[in-house]
Amino acid sequence: RIVELVNHDTPLSDWPEALFAVEDNVRLKDRLLANPVKPGASLERVLAQGRETIFEEIETSQLRGRGGAGFNTAWKWRFCYEGPEEVAVCPPGQPAAQAERYVVCNADEGEPGTFKDRVLLQSHADQVFEGMTVCAYLVGARQGFLYLRGEYLYLHQRLEGVLAERRRQGLLGEGILGRKGFDFDIEIRLGAGAYICGEESALIESLEGKRGVPRNRPPYPVTHGYLGKPTVVNNVETFFAAAAITLHGGEWFASVGTEKSKGTKLLSICGDCSRPGIYEYPFGVTISRILDDCGADDTLGVQIGGPSGMFISDKEFGRKLAFEDLATGGSFIVFDRTRDVLEIARNFTHFFAHESCGFCTPCRVGTALLKNLLDKIGDGHGAAGDLAELSRLGRFVRSTSHCGLGQTAANPILSTLERYPELYQKRLKTIDFEPGFDLDGALA
Ligand code: NAD
Ligand code: SF4
Repeated sequence: RIVELVNHDTPLSDWPEALFAVEDNVRLKDRLLANPVKPGASLERVLAQGRETIFEEIETSQLRGRGGAGFNTAWKWRFCYEGPEEVAVCPPGQPAAQAERYVVCNADEGEPGTFKDRVLLQSHADQVFEGMTVCAYLVGARQGFLYLRGEYLYLHQRLEGVLAERRRQGLLGEGILGRKGFDFDIEIRLGAGAYICGEESALIESLEGKRGVPRNRPPYPVTHGYLGKPTVVNNVETFFAAAAITLHGGEWFASVGTEKSKGTKLLSICGDCSRPGIYEYPFGVTISRILDDCGADDTLGVQIGGPSGMFISDKEFGRKLAFEDLATGGSFIVFDRTRDVLEIARNFTHFFAHESCGFCTPCRVGTALLKNLLDKIGDGHGAAGDLAELSRLGRFVRSTSHCGLGQTAANPILSTLERYPELYQKRLKTIDFEPGFDLDGALA
């Protein structure tokens, strides 16, 4: 509907208000969406309780990064606060206010099928900025960046408005909430449409004004990030959750979820279901429960975690969303039985071949070869040996690529080939010979 209403030539002032009113897309709220934080409430608690107490709350919450990989947030923030020896200018336990550190919110939400960060930025930007400011206080940063995906350009003005209002209320700028030395501000930087800039080190390169190519890690950004300085990079949802944890406490958050995945997760649900939208679930929820809730019938499978994730077949719907079982950054795409598995894998493989940044050969060449081979099979020209080659090449690209894009680019192929070999077999070229034709003789 939005695509019908606007295009890139439409002035922002003419974009329909409906585009910004996204609360209707939120279909299921749990502790985070049901308990929004008022501007400044978490910061007041930080100043009242002090750094160590809030660090302990984040530790107790066991919050893990919501971008998909699930690294422990308290550890990341601690590593940044303490810093490597060569940049740690503050004695342990003392405020790190003067050290140069940065906080970056990764809003380059590029995984196909993921749109929960967009909804958070549309409806809860204040809370996301609050989470960043809490982080800045804990690690001792004075400068933050919101790296906004280029396709979310239409949000830019609104977000600048939220930042301006926060400055007016004393929640950003110098002496936040009247506390001398608590200085922090946030700048919005726009991406230009490259999927790879969602990878944190490519994002940092882009922030520095360079081409977005992933760096070697380690060292990680917590010690060597923006301009080589300690930098926290977290997903939008992670900062959003951190603001709530600061206010309501770690126990409140950790009281739901599973042993290794505490709290709730926001999902972007789309595809063949009657109630697509944003859902918030405690970790541990089963796939079948989600499918019931979103009105999915006759489901063939679900792509969890976007193209870089996994295709789950109907035999696995008892599995759980959790870092122990199925991890996801939030993408949940439903496919019913009218869909062609090979075409799904082909679509995603084209996506990766297009988005490969071209820096390393296994991914640059490998994703193109995978695409060509899958096109050949999909178009009915594949030979029996092509399936073995597809699998071999997929595993090779996975194990030799420089960054996460190449390492996951073959997932759509490998996960569907493993589950539906017969569907691939069926698409191979078959030759009908005349009765009595001497094939062995012809080949000899
Ligand atoms: P990763 O496991 O390498 O790192 C995760 C985070 O932990 C990073 O911030 C990293 O700096 C930090 N980290 C890891 N080890 C560390 C250490 N020893 N010391 C300090 N910090 C450390 O994962 P990644 O490659 O950054 O991200 C991959 C994830 O991104 C995948 O799970 C995928 O699902 C997700 N993803 C999300 C989107 C999206 O739109 N949200 C798009 C593509 C991929
Ligand atoms: Fe670029 Fe792909 Fe290599 Fe990553 S794996 S650095 S995206 S070419």
